[in-house]
Amino acid sequence: MLGTALLLATLAQAPQVKFGIPVKEGPMDALRVKDYAPESSLVLPRTRLPKAKFPVIDAHTHTSMSGIKTRADVDAWVKTMDATGVQTSIVFTEATGPDFDRQIDLYRAHPTRFQVWCGLDTKNIDDPAYPQRAARELERCYRLGARGVGELTDKGWGLQSNEQNARPRTQRLRLDDPRLDPFWRKLAELKIPANIHIADHPSCWRPLGPHQERTPDFQGFNLYEKDVPSHAELLATRDRLLARHPLTTFIFCHLSNQGHDLAALADTLDRHPNLFLDLSARDYEIGRQPRAARRFFSRYRGRVLFGTDMGREPSMYESWWCLLESADEYLPGRIWWPYYGLELDDPTLKSLYRDTALKVLNFR
Ligand SMILES: [Zn+2]
Repeated sequence: MLGTALLLATLAQAPQVKFGIPVKEGPMDALRVKDYAPESSLVLPRTRLPKAKFPVIDAHTHTSMSGIKTRADVDAWVKTMDATGVQTSIVFTEATGPDFDRQIDLYRAHPTRFQVWCGLDTKNIDDPAYPQRAARELERCYRLGARGVGELTDKGWGLQSNEQNARPRTQRLRLDDPRLDPFWRKLAELKIPANIHIADHPSCWRPLGPHQERTPDFQGFNLYEKDVPSHAELLATRDRLLARHPLTTFIFCHLSNQGHDLAALADTLDRHPNLFLDLSARDYEIGRQPRAARRFFSRYRGRVLFGTDMGREPSMYESWWCLLESADEYLPGRIWWPYYGLELDDPTLKSLYRDTALKVLNFR
């Protein structure tokens, strides 16, 4: 017994050896994960790209996230768009009724610079009149200028719901719920698309611990062991929706939260011609696999739209141009891993920046 205890104590004190190098104890052992921010010594040329190479249509922005409260805020945004090369921003209000009317009014002075989209009414979904009510409100917003619906979100709690206000799991409104059929059909009739956020980054379904993929900054999004369907089950609601409404155009944002598996995503695109993607907020996903991402964007020209979803700072836009246009290496990123420029060719870049949006969105 004593012998075992002695052996364990000796083992605990012995320096660990990793890849032949002894690992010693030191101040870094007490460091908190959230404080870890290594500074790179790598000396490399850096490309400065304040303006995009071709005029850009940003297919994913929000009134709220862009801090838009007044018409003056909108005027300031237009100045930034001019400086950075963004011709038009698609703005999601996520609103219906008077809130939509108020938001669309903010943008009236710049009809060619913004396209404003409405939301989906999800009040009283058990009311027998709900399906027609939702479709009617969409038509009303369309007449006021809405040219799409977005962003609609189901991270597992049901459409436009969250952990705090979620209904019991079997009663949540899903993408493929028949009550939404008139709504999706109305989109096709009006020739306008929906932008949908389904599931979330797959790391949300993994424990918050030593093997968690994303930094603590993202732990607020974690869903591990929560009362939600799996990542795969949520993607299945997407696939059933796409099959059920072949005449409706759907843009699934953030690379449909499948940017970690571009082969599976390619498969889904091949199966559903009415599926389009936006790459917003997935800088970290493409930046860590630049060669695979470049092949993907080249092969799926006409199926992927550019979008930001990250506010409206000039430096934010510049980071995107650098990621997509330059061959810069080891660019600082938002998660653990640095990014590598994709160096997209001109036809792919043009398709991503604007041609796909001109084809898929309704500019009439
Ligand atoms: Zn968004």
